[in-house]
Amino acid sequence: MSNFAIVVHGGAGTITPDLYTAEIEKGIRDTLFEAVEAGYFLLREGEVAVNVVSHVVMVLENSPFFNAGKGSVFTNDGTHEMEAAIMNGANLDAGAACAVKNVRNPIVLARKILEKSGHVYLHGKGAEEFGRLYHVAFEPEEYFFDQFRYDEWRKIKASNTYRLDHSKDNAKKFGTVGAVALDIHGNVAAATSTGGMTNKKHGRIGDSSIIGAGTYANNATCAVSCTGHGEPFLRAVSAYDISCLMEYKGLSLEDAANYLIHEKMKQDHLQGEGGLIAIDHQGNIAITFNTVGMYRGYRRSGEKEHIALYKANVPA
Ligand code: ASP
Repeated sequence: MSNFAIVVHGGAGTITPDLYTAEIEKGIRDTLFEAVEAGYFLLREGEVAVNVVSHVVMVLENSPFFNAGKGSVFTNDGTHEMEAAIMNGANLDAGAACAVKNVRNPIVLARKILEKSGHVYLHGKGAEEFGRLYHVAFEPEEYFFDQFRYDEWRKIKASNTYRLDHSKDNAKKFGTVGAVALDIHGNVAAATSTGGMTNKKHGRIGDSSIIGAGTYANNATCAVSCTGHGEPFLRAVSAYDISCLMEYKGLSLEDAANYLIHEKMKQDHLQGEGGLIAIDHQGNIAITFNTVGMYRGYRRSGEKEHIALYKANVPA
């Protein structure tokens, strides 16, 4: 069997076992499992990586356990503004959308932008209009509603602060979603989708949908999807930095990921909390984070799936 693999994340943060009821933890694990399995079987059938990551992220967007699509966090004015990006490592094609409302699956919109727009990045009303042209599904506000995230937003609504969906002072931790894959043809791809940060305003955009910051893929090096505090990840051009460390410095995927997350992000001027998933064209996987936990899962050809939430059960 040719080498192939799928890796997913559902956000990084202060993720500890005491945060959940057994039922919620099971729901999170089951959804990660479902996403990994969906990706694995598509890859085994010979599906190309860019299709696989878009499908897998859609599975995660449809779950209220994660801050993407259904269950996205609330903006300061009480709505949901979502963003997503996808990149094909085979040809560097990319598509991204930000500040979109009511789009059921922002990753599907990003995928359409990659295929049909002749552009890379569309935002707000224009992106929504483009989505309608290509029959992307829309939902009313209620579809995205989640009681927990609503309560979190109400607590800080009057303040000038915004916060990560899975930051230290947040009682339960749910996050941004992403996937990277290597297909049997040797192609890698990456996809990331998020509702951003609770109580965000002024049209704030994070790293997730920015090609090179939260999402990047290149067959010559690797595919990367990041999660965490978007601003430091943006300033470090993080996903592309991993690729550059491999391309120009000859670092392995693991060394590049460790350098970014455990050294660069720890510098005083960045102090970036978060993590990433990455895969190279040989099927090496990196799952790296400097937070207490990260929702994650992967499966390599011919192996069993691995799902983990906390530091203690690091799978890779
Ligand atoms: N990186 C995302 C942002 O800053 C948040 C996350 O990863 O959960 O919008």
